[in-house]
Amino acid sequence: MSERVGIIGGGIVGVALARALAQRGDEVTVLEKEPRLAAHQTGHNSGVVHAGLYYAPGSLKATLCAAGRVRIREFCQQKGLPYREVGKLVVAVDENELGALAEIERRSRENGVPDLERIDDVARLREIEPHVAGVAAVHSPHTAVVDYASITEAMAQDVRAAEGTILLGSEVTAMRTEGEQVRVVTPVSEHVFDRVIVCAGLHSDVVARFVGADPSPKILPFRGEYWALRPSRVDLVRGMIYPVPDPRFPFLGVHFTRGVYDDVHVGPNAVPALAREGYSWLRWSAKDTWESLRWPGAWPLARQHWRMGADEISASLLKPRYFHKARRFVPELRMSDLQRTSSAGVRAQAWGRGGELLDDFAVDQVGRVTLVRNAPSPAATSSLAIADYLIEHYLSPPAR
Ligand SMILES: Cc1cc2nc3c(=O)[nH]c(=O)nc-3n(C[C@H](O)[C@H](O)[C@H](O)COP(=O)(O)OP(=O)(O)OC[C@H]3O[C@@H](n4cnc5c(N)ncnc54)[C@H](O)[C@@H]3O)c2cc1C
Repeated sequence: MSERVGIIGGGIVGVALARALAQRGDEVTVLEKEPRLAAHQTGHNSGVVHAGLYYAPGSLKATLCAAGRVRIREFCQQKGLPYREVGKLVVAVDENELGALAEIERRSRENGVPDLERIDDVARLREIEPHVAGVAAVHSPHTAVVDYASITEAMAQDVRAAEGTILLGSEVTAMRTEGEQVRVVTPVSEHVFDRVIVCAGLHSDVVARFVGADPSPKILPFRGEYWALRPSRVDLVRGMIYPVPDPRFPFLGVHFTRGVYDDVHVGPNAVPALAREGYSWLRWSAKDTWESLRWPGAWPLARQHWRMGADEISASLLKPRYFHKARRFVPELRMSDLQRTSSAGVRAQAWGRGGELLDDFAVDQVGRVTLVRNAPSPAATSSLAIADYLIEHYLSPPAR
């Protein structure tokens, strides 16, 4: 007998899981609060299919990113969706960054990043990216770009084709276990499922509390804002130019990405968002801000990263500061080449009570409810593999 499964959240993780379950014969219902799918992180990201350069070897991020990259490529091929391997160059601009670059290279090799090349020769660097500045780099030629919102829509078509149901405009406001079943409540409907999986992104901690899960980890929202290169200057960047990430900081730093539609975006930065869905400085929620400030982990985090935080905020507000950071990698860049865009995304990054970053993907279980508690980047790349992982480890196969 197939199971009745409810999935809360219509981002790429929820919809990929719904697709896998519907295709194996479960009776699936996705409940999404917005009037469309992919309305938050999935529709507001860099569109990169990561090849697995950064992640701790053996972690879920490393293994599911490697498997997910291949699955996303196959999915795009099957569905006729754009998938462009523009390649990524991680550049050490000066000698101080060589140690961190060596660590990225080590991790990349352990993670099996395909066809990785170490470059110590400036001429070779310029062959790949003619306008870049740097002393060394690693190049991942199979890092690709896609449109994750279109991919999610295509996955949703498969859900419907397998008789799954997707209910938009359905915000889950309460949930309780009743014997062998879970009752899920929205303002306009009630549903009873055998199992529920929560893939609620920026609200994953809020929904977890409905079933009495530990409030830790909490989502502290960090916005990433993008600039774009003026169309006449997009030739400055062929693929992706990334900095060597600062190992003390969870985000990657200013980078250039040629998108799937040939635009070149610069960013995202990382500034505290004043609301879970705070896509600009003007979107402010007293409740979300108060909850963040009240979180004991917010203060050690602020103490540890205040200098970097102040730097990111000033570069968000003052264009010359941002330009200065970006020009390190592409010296020919002029201030007028950078155009502010309205596009921004808010990262659902989970933090513990002591201010510790939850680096890896994280899943919890409370009775019949499975909670995806941390699915930051590269969860879009990994989505199809995350779905398989959840089914294998948390959802028993249906009895037939
Ligand atoms: C700026 C930025 C850049 C990124 N770049 C990349 C990248 O290049 N490559 C990559 O692989 N990853 C990237 N990521 C990460 C990636 O976007 C996310 O890991 C991924 O989209 C997570 O998917 P999700 O389904 O878990 O979350 P989401 O897409 O956020 O979906 C969660 C859904 O749950 C819904 N929801 C929440 N609460 C409720 C409720 N109570 N009831 C019903 N529905 C609810 C929300 O409306 C939302 O639609 C980036 C993220 C950001 C923010």
